Amino acid sequence: MTQFTKSIDADGVATLTWDTPGKSMNVMNMEGFQELDALIDDVLADDAVKGVILTSGKEGSFAGGMDLNIIARMKESAGDNPAKGLFDGIMATHKILRKLERGGMDDKNKGGKPIVAALPGTALGIGLEIPLACHYIIAADNPKAKIGLPEIMVGIFPGMGGTTRLSWKLGAMGASPLLLEGKLNDPKKAKAAGVVDEVVAPEELLTRAREWVLSEPKIVKPWDEKGYKIPGGEPYHPAGFMTFVGASAMVNGNTKGVYPAAKALLSSVYEGMQVPFDTALRIEARWFVNVLMNPSSAAMIRSLFINKEALEKGANRPDVADQKVRKVGVIGAGMMGAGIALVSAQAGIEVVLIDQKQEAADKGKSYSESYLDKGIARKKTTPEKKEEVLSRITATTDYAALKGCDLVVEAVFEDVGVKAAVTREVLAAVGPECIFATNTSTLPISELAKASDNPEQFIGIHFFSPVEKMMLVEIIKGEKTGDVAVAKALDYVRQIRKTPIVVNDARFFYANRCIIPYINEGIRMVKEGVEPALVENAAKLVGMPLGPLQLVDETSIDLGVKIAKATRAAMGDAYPDGAVDEVLFWMADEGRLGRKSNAGFYTYDEKGKRGLLWEGLEAKYPVDDEQPDLSEVQHRLLFAQVLEAVRALEEGVLEDIREGDVGAILGWGFAPWSGGPFSWLDILGAERAVELTEALTAKFGDRFATPGLLREIAASGGSFYDRFGTGADAKAA
Ligand code: NAD
Repeated sequence: MTQFTKSIDADGVATLTWDTPGKSMNVMNMEGFQELDALIDDVLADDAVKGVILTSGKEGSFAGGMDLNIIARMKESAGDNPAKGLFDGIMATHKILRKLERGGMDDKNKGGKPIVAALPGTALGIGLEIPLACHYIIAADNPKAKIGLPEIMVGIFPGMGGTTRLSWKLGAMGASPLLLEGKLNDPKKAKAAGVVDEVVAPEELLTRAREWVLSEPKIVKPWDEKGYKIPGGEPYHPAGFMTFVGASAMVNGNTKGVYPAAKALLSSVYEGMQVPFDTALRIEARWFVNVLMNPSSAAMIRSLFINKEALEKGANRPDVADQKVRKVGVIGAGMMGAGIALVSAQAGIEVVLIDQKQEAADKGKSYSESYLDKGIARKKTTPEKKEEVLSRITATTDYAALKGCDLVVEAVFEDVGVKAAVTREVLAAVGPECIFATNTSTLPISELAKASDNPEQFIGIHFFSPVEKMMLVEIIKGEKTGDVAVAKALDYVRQIRKTPIVVNDARFFYANRCIIPYINEGIRMVKEGVEPALVENAAKLVGMPLGPLQLVDETSIDLGVKIAKATRAAMGDAYPDGAVDEVLFWMADEGRLGRKSNAGFYTYDEKGKRGLLWEGLEAKYPVDDEQPDLSEVQHRLLFAQVLEAVRALEEGVLEDIREGDVGAILGWGFAPWSGGPFSWLDILGAERAVELTEALTAKFGDRFATPGLLREIAASGGSFYDRFGTGADAKAA
């Protein structure tokens, strides 16, 4: 398959056009590299060629990056000695780009041909690393284009020369937001940051590139000349030293040492700046291999990119006709309903937002207004766009306005009776095609569906708070939910650009089922006399974004009390969390309800800024002199969640481990470095997981009992992903 084509004009300007067949944006793969390599040899050897333009045949973009499917499998496909195989493969790529960069010059930097990258727009990852190896970069002024190196966001770093070239070009300080945060810029900002050299009107891109090639420009890169000083100073220069001390502290503060890529990136820059350029590229390659050999990078790419995208594209969608939503009814204009109305209207869907009183409905709509006003202030949206979005939302108390809705989402009080009454009232107002969804977080869908004559058209669509920020939506099938309802929910989630998982009905569905035991384990440890700061830091040091005590402060302690009471009522004597409730109920009695009351496990100042852990906690639950090991606390906190995920799979609540992993990271921030609970178990190894759960059970009780499925996988010597696959066949048998 041809991905690059060559043409040469009368003045000897060769144009290499990258155009991956069948893709809307170019992505690089092994064949692409081979083609590019051969074409570079060709144009450099051809006396008729004076200079080269490297561009793309895609409108509005140069390239989206490396095919991540290839990166995810790089280690497996690198042979018996994968580290060596990877290193050799990466160095072969460096050689191609270095050849491009040298442009045919001799050792004395004489001769050679100018090579310009002409970017019609978006240039990401390898799509920017290749231009960085060219002699000049011109980008079309396309404000929607994104230019940058986002590799760090998926657990790797730019390892095809981008790390070295950008840090040598801009200095460690200048390159740091682009490399360490994966910051993307539009072309003008990329020019201001020094990433591209020139921005021109789109229609002038190729003319200007041609002009530059024919202008006899200087092509030697500064680092190939004697005496080059990297901007901002090298590591032993006083300024450079300051930068690296700060960057190292920042990286460790942000990553808590659990993301291997950020540290490897920094090491690559630090070590690379102390040696000649070609050695720096070898160092970059070695650190890149180090990251690729770490199972975390493949797990992150698999969950955060490949599987997330597969779920968004409908991997588990029933095969029924398009169910795109045209008009949605949202009942209950409280915190959740207001957010659901906003994201729906933003997606171009007409919204009817209903509450009991007109003021309440209006207040729900005004949430969208203030959200959009903030967007205008931050230049994320425009007054026209705001008006357009708001004009789609009708705030009313009149159920007759629901006529024509093809989906209604109910977000009224968490009460079976209230929800049943609302369901009946809605169904009397809408047509027979309309799908009814509930946003309940705790009530069984099959129970709520009894209020409908048509339980096949009844489904759970569970959003997380705040709706506009949280990317996961949990779709819950009741016993009788039909395929059309599932497809409707999935098509809706796609329209509002979120990531869906589809689970079966069971107490707390999937996400809350796993997160509640995490919070409870943290609180239980406080009761036992474990230092609260140890609990919180242990969680963060294993990659959880919030410790369990901070998390319950955020979600509110009275909600915890409410859930505990309802769970106890439902479970009776089997209820296992009495020790947790003692602490939780006492906190609620003390009026410490969490962030919302400016007092919880943490202290808060009058502006609501979180301070230290509350000292009163220690007075009530004294801290033991002897404290457990960090790893024991971490294992308790992680297994509390992970075992629930395995049980959800065993019980058929989860049908696909990809959903279990992606849902855990997006829904409650489960240690993203691990790729999710199932990936974490695979990294740990099932046998080791069995050993650990047996030890935890002996010491702390049956909540850590080893699930049969885990034992089975350990006995077979396999892993969850071996057993349940990674593609369309990932469904649990
Ligand atoms: P909320 O109290 O902020 O809002 C509920 C709204 O429903 C109120 O505005 C109320 O006036 C309205 N309402 C009550 N009865 C009504 C009726 N008969 N007709 C019309 N409107 C009525 O509650 P919330 O936090 O938005 O939660 C709503 C639902 O979403 C609950 O089922 C809850 O379990 C679920 N949920 C909440 C969260 C969360 O974090 N708060 C997360 C996921 C799901």
